Amino acid sequence: MLKPDILKQFKCSGCGECCRWGGSVLLTDEDIRTMAGFLGLDEAAFIAAHTRLAPNRQQLALLDQADGSCAWLEGDRCSVYEARPEQCRSFPYAWSVPEGCPELDKLLDQQKSVE
Ligand code: SF4
Repeated sequence: MLKPDILKQFKCSGCGECCRWGGSVLLTDEDIRTMAGFLGLDEAAFIAAHTRLAPNRQQLALLDQADGSCAWLEGDRCSVYEARPEQCRSFPYAWSVPEGCPELDKLLDQQKSVE
């Protein structure tokens, strides 16, 4: 777990690795409104074309590509970055992972070296 003062130094390199992790990108009602508006779709059309029921059966999630990466990942870039869901916006501040983000791994190494 990163200490808050070290987490403040986090700077995303845009490598796109987090968009390739398995799991679900859960959508809030606001995410659906924002993404549908960004794409010029009404919400029902967005939901039908771009979402699935999440394993928790209580929320919708974004679709994945065949390799498990996010459907909106193009190369290393999020093609809906300006309208990306809250789950994506809040990483790594509201939630995090033990490994897999190169920039977080660097900060974890830095923290270990001063402990
Ligand atoms: S894995 Fe980390 S550095 Fe790479 S795009 Fe995601 S948040 Fe940014």
